[in-house]
Amino acid sequence: MPLRLGISSCLLGEEVRHDGGHKRDGSLIDSLGPLVQWIAVCPEMEIGLGTPREAIRLVRRAAGSIGMESVETQVDLTERMRAHARRRVKDFAQLDLDGYVFKSDSPSCGVFRVRVWADGTSPEATGRGVFAEEVIRALPALPVEEEGRLHEAHLRENFIERLSAYRETKTS
Ligand code: SF4
Repeated sequence: MPLRLGISSCLLGEEVRHDGGHKRDGSLIDSLGPLVQWIAVCPEMEIGLGTPREAIRLVRRAAGSIGMESVETQVDLTERMRAHARRRVKDFAQLDLDGYVFKSDSPSCGVFRVRVWADGTSPEATGRGVFAEEVIRALPALPVEEEGRLHEAHLRENFIERLSAYRETKTS
């Protein structure tokens, strides 16, 4: 049975990005595609933002917490996205996911070093996308990676090993 992986939809070529485009990653699809069944998820589309839409970014609040908001109109989308992620995690548990490939540097999907903006400063690459953060919090053992890191052979091999090991723990 193929490994079942969640994936940010735009990486498969679905035109779900804020600018109406996609971020198809042919290298990722070619290397992992034969081994896996993809479960495509675009959390920003799923919370009803549509495409094209206003760009979103992570922002540091005065109190120090990090939230997500639309760039121009500054609508706070943090709780809406968190609530959606908590619902989706229940679906993922039912789907028996073996892992997840997230889109890098996305305020929703990024896992590592997502840019965080604060008034009057350059962004710091210290954040994590709100959707990804909730998935990782709820399913801490689930192997996750970003597409860019999977271009490196040793990280890709390591990810595949983690996926297989995780599946084994579920069946043993
Ligand atoms: S990064 Fe995530 S939220 Fe953004 S377009 Fe891709 S799947 Fe949708």
